[in-house]
Amino acid sequence: MATIAANIERQHARIAAACTAAHRPVQSVTLLVVSKTFPAEAVRQAFAAGERRFGENYVQEGLDKIAELAELRSAIEWHLIGPLQSNKTRAVAQQFDWVHSVDRLKIAQRLSEQRPPELPPLNICLQVNISGEASKSGLLPAEVAALAHAVAALPGLRLRGLMAVPEPAADLAAQRVPHRALALLQQDLIAEGLLLDTLSIGMSADLEAAIAEGATLVRVGSAIFGARHAA
Ligand SMILES: *Cc1c(COP(=O)(O)O)cnc(C)c1O
Repeated sequence: MATIAANIERQHARIAAACTAAHRPVQSVTLLVVSKTFPAEAVRQAFAAGERRFGENYVQEGLDKIAELAELRSAIEWHLIGPLQSNKTRAVAQQFDWVHSVDRLKIAQRLSEQRPPELPPLNICLQVNISGEASKSGLLPAEVAALAHAVAALPGLRLRGLMAVPEPAADLAAQRVPHRALALLQQDLIAEGLLLDTLSIGMSADLEAAIAEGATLVRVGSAIFGARHAA
């Protein structure tokens, strides 16, 4: 398990090298540790290594882990990065700090209404189907602006930016294409007056390409915890 700390150190070195190559300050990119399918003990190890931001894909698994790690709750930022059904929005609005996978107004409205007033607004990224895959969740690029402006107006939410899971590509140049498309989409929204500071792209296999195109938050799982077994 000491390998978790070593793997985390390796990811920070990758991020630093990619930032240097892109002439960006290393602090401009945040590491989100994706702990889906790994037990609370793995989160503890990453926490002991200094990590404070964790991403979960499955709502129930995330809620269980948040409960199991209740004594660390105030120190950890929990991010939901997987699909969200409307019957789960209340628990998510109550327990998570971020949701990266919003792609419908109805879900956003429920999260806003159900966010407890004593908590800060829930941080939101809109998920975009940037590679245009038929099976993928996420908005089509042409749908993004309308939902972004609607979400930005909801009082219980704070729209932070866009998120995507591009189709895997073999080399850096090919990986950069969808990342660039998402970055341009985000720049359009900023030009329209939205205050966005988060571009959530880059995973274990492609974080260098994502950082080259402006990622501010990379979501890394298997390069830290090892291969996931089929759920
Ligand atoms: C699983 C997952 C990740 C992490 O993927 P790795 O390849 O293990 O780094 C990032 N983002 C989302 C949305 C995921 O589902």
